Amino acid sequence: MLGEKCGVYSVVSTGEGDAFVPLYWGLVAQNHRGHESYGFLTYSDGLKRYVDLGLVPRIEREEILRWQMLLPGKRGVAHVRYGTSGKRDVYSHLKDAQPMVVSQGRSKLGLAFNGNLVNIGWLRGLLAGKVPKMKATSDTELLCRYMALKANGGIMEAIRSCMEEVEGAYSVVGLRSNGELFVFRDPLGIRPLCIGRSKDGTITAVSSETVGLDINSFSLIGEVEPGEAIVFGTNGNGMVERERLAKCPRRALCGFELSYFSRPDSLINGKPVYKTREEFGRNLGKRYQEYVRKADLIVSIPETAEDAAYGLHEETGLRWERALRRHRFVTHRAFILESEDRKVTIDRKINIGDGELRGKRIIVVEDSIVRGDTTKTIIGKLRERGAEEVYMFVTFPRITHPCFYGIDMATFTELIGFRNDEAAIAKQIGADAVCYQPLEDFVRATGIGAENLCMACVTGRYPTELAQRIADSVKPKVGNDGKRIYELEA
Ligand code: SF4
Repeated sequence: MLGEKCGVYSVVSTGEGDAFVPLYWGLVAQNHRGHESYGFLTYSDGLKRYVDLGLVPRIEREEILRWQMLLPGKRGVAHVRYGTSGKRDVYSHLKDAQPMVVSQGRSKLGLAFNGNLVNIGWLRGLLAGKVPKMKATSDTELLCRYMALKANGGIMEAIRSCMEEVEGAYSVVGLRSNGELFVFRDPLGIRPLCIGRSKDGTITAVSSETVGLDINSFSLIGEVEPGEAIVFGTNGNGMVERERLAKCPRRALCGFELSYFSRPDSLINGKPVYKTREEFGRNLGKRYQEYVRKADLIVSIPETAEDAAYGLHEETGLRWERALRRHRFVTHRAFILESEDRKVTIDRKINIGDGELRGKRIIVVEDSIVRGDTTKTIIGKLRERGAEEVYMFVTFPRITHPCFYGIDMATFTELIGFRNDEAAIAKQIGADAVCYQPLEDFVRATGIGAENLCMACVTGRYPTELAQRIADSVKPKVGNDGKRIYELEA
């Protein structure tokens, strides 16, 4: 299991209602993308910010007025965070919480982003001496300071510079102290970003995932295109400037969104994610018939592998035993003591029902294997419950390379699939077989096309230049003590 990455949301209301209520619900719908912290930034005669640790809180009816007073205005941006850069203690989480706001001269700029920057060393150098000493530990302050510095020439020009100079994955929502709200997406569209509108046309929202629109009954009206910027100005009723600032011959949507990160009921490329995952399961059933013939039943790791397990069950007719269940309401990482071992940590999250597994040959459907430690623990628990043989069916192809674009796997050495083939991985995690969905099956099921997906962690072919150079130069000398390799190189 991997940590989730971030989710962003923005609201511009030209009607009666303020931004806070749709902003809040848009964030709640995307809380699966980040549990470490959440935050809101609204504009009403200046910027008002509120950030805190943990899940987006439940707000009782009596409290809503207080929240609306705290975060007034018809424009706002919001964020849930799972950090893939920066320090991991609670104080750093709070410092790194987004939206982040910085001052530049007499104006302020705040933003929240989903993604990760690659050329951070270059950016630090560029900003050195021009901006105050940075307080946060993540990439966000760098991007925020960069944008604030460049925004002196107008926000559209700042976004243009960002697209030309900043390499990485970034889906951004932001606000300036003059009331301008801006959104943009990196030239390759690595992280998703979509636009929706309320039925009466008075509210426009931008969301990482379509579920953030659905929860507010907003209609999906399209994507923020890769390399596109939208600025909601402050003239009259809020003039909208929309421009494709960078055009790449290809896109590179993160393939991992489809296996793991996105909610199953979100739409990607016009198709519900759960439908794609069902197809992953059917593909695995067709590819690995020797294990299907031997198996007595299917189980799945909750919850992202469940749709694939259903597809596999449909394809093979094998019983899908819902023996693994996630403990409801345990949705965060808090209060798992350092002294507790991996098994206890898994026990806190997932329960394995007793009874049906004894003496059985089991196909376990999983979305991915990154480090292998969680999978190993779960297989151990299945064996304790009497499973005779365990065949891992994995929807995401074997991960052999680190991700520089915002997924929590930034070194070669942490990846079990880097040094090991399927047989060696099976041995290490205690499975009788490990069966990955082949890349071509994965790509076909997405309906997106290999040229428009990022699958760099599988193929080693990165869609951006510096990422490729770093990976190529570091790969022969891996063993970098667990630091993000681009921090060492940049
Ligand atoms: S390298 Fe892998 S995880 Fe990272 S953006 Fe590409 S597909 Fe997603």
